[in-house]
Amino acid sequence: MADGRGARVQGADGLRACLMLNVAIIGAGPAGVATALSILQCATNDVVVTLYYRRPGQRWTVGETLPPVAYGELNRLGAASVLRPDVHLPCAGSLSVWSTEEVVANDFLLDPHGTGYHLNREQFEAGLRQLVLERGARLCPEHTLRQVHANAKGYQLTFHTAKGDVATEADFVVDASGQNAGFARRLPLPPFSAAVWESVGWRWAMRRAATTPLRRRGLPNR
Ligand SMILES: Cc1cc2nc3c(=O)[nH]c(=O)nc-3n(C[C@H](O)[C@H](O)[C@H](O)COP(=O)(O)OP(=O)(O)OC[C@H]3O[C@@H](n4cnc5c(N)ncnc54)[C@H](O)[C@@H]3O)c2cc1C
Repeated sequence: MADGRGARVQGADGLRACLMLNVAIIGAGPAGVATALSILQCATNDVVVTLYYRRPGQRWTVGETLPPVAYGELNRLGAASVLRPDVHLPCAGSLSVWSTEEVVANDFLLDPHGTGYHLNREQFEAGLRQLVLERGARLCPEHTLRQVHANAKGYQLTFHTAKGDVATEADFVVDASGQNAGFARRLPLPPFSAAVWESVGWRWAMRRAATTPLRRRGLPNR
C-alpha cells in the first residue's frame, strides 16, 4: 500500500515474519509427532512447526504392543484419544525373549497405568498426524530429506518429492527419522579418525564422507 499506514502494517508484518521461528521435524513417527505436540503445547503463534516425512506405507509396519505407561504420556500430550478401542485391541500383557532363552512375562494387570494395546500401527500414526494437523502444525508427506546445509541463520534442507527437489530454510531441526538418522547423518561434521599402534604396525581408520575420496597415499605402512 502506498500510504504511511499501509507501510507501517507491512513493516509490522515483515518484523513478525523475521521473528517467526521455523522448526522442521524430520519424521512423523511417534517421536516426531510427540515432539510436535510438545512444542505446540507451549509455543506461541510465532513458532511454525513442519513435519517432513516419507510416504506413509513406504515401509512395511508390523503390529506392535504399546505398554500401559505410554497411555500416561499420550494423555499428557492430549493425544490419548488416538487409542480408540475399536481400532486397537486391549492387551493384558506380553511375553518377550531378549538375548537369552528365558521367556519374560510382563503382566499389565499389576500396572497402575491400566491396560496396554495391540496397535494397528498405521492407524495409530495416522491418528497422531491428524492431531498435530488440527493443532496447527504443517504436514509435508512424501518429502525425503536429501541434503543439509548449515548457514548463519540455521539450516537449508533439500527434500526429494514426486515433483522434484524442494529446498526450505529452518531455524531449528529435530531429527526424528528413526534408525535412518536422516538429518544427523547429513550434518557437515568433520570426519572422525582413529590411529592405533599395534606390534606389527599402524591400524588407521577414518569414517568416509560421501563426497571425500579415500586416499591411500601418505598412509603409514602396515
Ligand atoms: C520388528 C519391530 C517390532 C517392534 N515392536 C515394538 C513393540 O511391540 N512395542 C514398542 O513400543 N516398540 C516396538 N518397536 C520399536 C518401535 O517401532 C520404534 O521404537 C518406533 O517406531 C520409533 O519411533 P520413531 O518415531 O523414533 O521412528 P519411526 O517410527 O521409525 O519413524 C521414522 C519417521 O522418519 C521418516 N523418515 C525416515 N527417514 C527420512 C528421510 N530421509 N526423510 C524424511 N523422512 C524420513 C519416516 O517416514 C517416519 O515418518 C519395534 C520395532 C521393530 C522394527
